Amino acid sequence: MSFDFRALSGRPVIIGGGLAGLVTALEMAPEPVVLLSAAPLGYEASSALAQGGLAASIGSDDSPALHLADTLAAGDGLCDEVVVRRVVEAAPAAIAKLEHFGVAFDRATGRGLHLGLEAAHSRRRIVHAAGAATGSELMRALVAAVRRTVSITVVEGFEARRLLVEDGTIAGVNAAGASGDLVLATSRVVLATGGVGGLFRDTTNPLGCFGQGLALAARAGAELADLEFVQFHPTALDGPQRPMRLISEAVRGEGAILIDETGRRFLADLPGAELGTRDTVARGVHRHLARGHRVFLDTRACLGASFAGRFPTIASYCSEAGIDPAVDPIPVRPAAHYHMGGVAVNAEGCSSVAGLWACGEVASTGLHGANRLASNSLTEAVVMAGWVAESVAASSSMERKTIAIPAAAPARADPALVRSIVSPALGVLRDGESLRDAASTLLPLARGSTSAAEPAAVALIMVVAALRREESRGAHCRADFPLRSAVARRSKITLVEALETAAAIDATPLARSA
Ligand SMILES: Cc1cc2nc3c(=O)[nH]c(=O)nc-3n(C[C@H](O)[C@H](O)[C@H](O)COP(=O)(O)OP(=O)(O)OC[C@H]3O[C@@H](n4cnc5c(N)ncnc54)[C@H](O)[C@@H]3O)c2cc1C
Repeated sequence: MSFDFRALSGRPVIIGGGLAGLVTALEMAPEPVVLLSAAPLGYEASSALAQGGLAASIGSDDSPALHLADTLAAGDGLCDEVVVRRVVEAAPAAIAKLEHFGVAFDRATGRGLHLGLEAAHSRRRIVHAAGAATGSELMRALVAAVRRTVSITVVEGFEARRLLVEDGTIAGVNAAGASGDLVLATSRVVLATGGVGGLFRDTTNPLGCFGQGLALAARAGAELADLEFVQFHPTALDGPQRPMRLISEAVRGEGAILIDETGRRFLADLPGAELGTRDTVARGVHRHLARGHRVFLDTRACLGASFAGRFPTIASYCSEAGIDPAVDPIPVRPAAHYHMGGVAVNAEGCSSVAGLWACGEVASTGLHGANRLASNSLTEAVVMAGWVAESVAASSSMERKTIAIPAAAPARADPALVRSIVSPALGVLRDGESLRDAASTLLPLARGSTSAAEPAAVALIMVVAALRREESRGAHCRADFPLRSAVARRSKITLVEALETAAAIDATPLARSA
């Protein structure tokens, strides 16, 4: 059954109800927009799970220049400095904007905002809410603000399954929900669909975040950037629960140390030790686990009985697992956490397809380089959403008399099969042989029409991007290319190119063992 929501025709459609989508919709008011969300607003979004907070140089000892330097250092040579400068300069105003929308950040008694410290930040600059429940406070306030805003039509329970493209330009969105299919005719679409963690077995992301936005953009012909860079968080609570609970870096910021089952502090010699960049700490933990050890985060000396007061959300996660951080070290392991790569966009969030914008985790602006600095993503989502909203508002809607309405939306995607291919091949440590094998296994799935096709297409592009990057940089670590190239280059790729490369690999079995 196909519905045609003609009354909404021509309005910009924002896909995704996390931080980036909500802020874009609010920033566009009073222009009428449609906010399309697969889950009820506030659910199934990484934004709701965010703990640490948003990075902004607000402290009296801080400046955008210091925030810029820390971001560039973490990004391992691959950040776009112009983008970083623009985002860090806009960060303090983004915090003020969120307060204007009703977000209640934690304040120090009698002073300004309470600022936390996180790994690889040279200053206390993490703005947070309710201790480590920043994401739920953001969602509470912003969902309420969206529901109060009459210009925003919220369409919940509908998942975008295809972008309709005519003459190289966006013409509409084909979505599906429990009550049937939906076609929204529009020449302006904003992707705000989040990350890819759900493609991995070990992830902190909601399992529904498996790169659907990337699949939509890729099938529409958009250019994608830096897809090989996946950030693994070093300290996810080790246990059977999925998504894995995150033990925020803010805990290490308060002095927690990493030990093994013998009590040895095995990362003490790493530059920055436990507060080194995420990629180096994740590799250190991964290697120690691979040698047969167990790894724990020990908060007994630094926080002890005050842990539950400072980190109530994390204390509740530990309690669910029968752990009391005041007396027990917390078992941890790395988990896929954040995607630095995404839809290639310019400073206004425009993709290479006319009428398609992207912001939030699905976009690749060049801010994060090869390794995101903790708490820069929420900041980026808010800042970019503002710039995307301005750009969409400034562009005119293109009326089409008719659009070709597909017979039915593609079937609901299921990443289960792809997860077992992606997890070993695109993990913390990669090598050419595993990547080539993964490309050959993914190719027929990506070309097919089963429920694995869309996740396989996304995974295939990521695998080909990882194969092409013959160096180790930031979060991308190749066992067969352990050195960093002298020149840092961002990578660009399309689905067509990835399919061609994978087909060539498949046709030359020798290449797989070379
Ligand atoms: C546990 C955890 C803790 C984190 N902590 C921090 C932190 O402290 N600081 C920080 O800066 N970053 C943090 N991050 C990262 C940060 O939360 C995310 O990068 C950010 O929230 C992404 O926001 P978003 O709006 O782009 O995507 P999301 O918040 O993931 O929202 C995406 C939305 O799109 C919807 N969607 C997806 N596909 C479709 C479709 N096809 N049709 C319709 N809807 C669709 C999803 O249902 C979801 O609602 C954390 C991430 C996790 C997982």
